[in-house]
Amino acid sequence: MPIKPAPVKLSCSFCNWSKVVIPQSDVVTRDYVLSQCPTCGKELSREQLNKAKVILHKLFK
Ligand SMILES: [Zn+2]
Repeated sequence: MPIKPAPVKLSCSFCNWSKVVIPQSDVVTRDYVLSQCPTCGKELSREQLNKAKVILHKLFK
C-alpha cells in the first residue's frame, strides 16, 4: 500500500528561500524531492508539517 507523502516545508538557511509542498495524492511533485536551493544551490533543510501547520499555511496563502 502506498504511503501518502507528508507535507514538508523546504527552506534554505543561506538565502531564506522557502516553500511549502503539500502533495495532493501519491503523486510526488518535482518540488517535493528538491534537495538543493533553486536560488543559491545550497542544501535545503526539510521540516515535516503537522496538520495544524498545514491548515495555517492554507489560511495565510
Ligand atoms: Zn538558498
